Formats: sequence, C-alpha cells, structure tokens
Amino acid sequence: MAAVPKNKRSKSKRDMKRNSYKLAIPSIVECPRCRAKKIAHRVCLSCGYYKNNMIINLDKKNKEKAEKQAKTKKERKSEIKNKANQSTTAKK
Ligand SMILES: [Zn+2]
Repeated sequence: MAAVPKNKRSKSKRDMKRNSYKLAIPSIVECPRCRAKKIAHRVCLSCGYYKNNMIINLDKKNKEKAEKQAKTKKERKSEIKNKANQSTTAKK
C-alpha cells in the first residue's frame, strides 16, 4: 500500500506551498558599452561584450550566418529540383 498522509493539509498550508510556484523575472540592465537592454550577468547579444571583453565576435558571426543562409537557399532549390527528378524517374 502506498504511503498515505496522516492529516489533511490545511488550505493555508496548501496555498503557502503554491505561493512559491512562480517564475522569477530576469533582471534586465543596460549594457555599459552599447546601451542596449540585456540580462544581468550575461553576455550582451547586441555587441557581444561582457565586462569589456569581447566574448562573441558578432561581425564574424553575422557574416557566417549570411553566407550560410545564402548557401542553403541555393542548395534547397537544387535539392528540390533533384528530388523532383528522382521521383519522376522512380515512378517509371
Ligand atoms: Zn552591448
């Protein structure tokens, strides 16, 4: 038999327990470098700096991202064409 509570938990105790089930709002501060809003104790996502140290090279990252996106668009188009060709040949 499973463990059973000996006494009923009062409404007060139940509600006191439930009072702690809430989400904490992350503290948002202004970045000292670029003045953008950022989460405290985290790297700034608009300039990539934390405590005057560059953590993320955003210029490089943005370039890589743009290159990737451009590539994937072309690749997707060619993939769709290939798939269409394959499906037509497979049916025959
Ligand atoms: Zn910043």
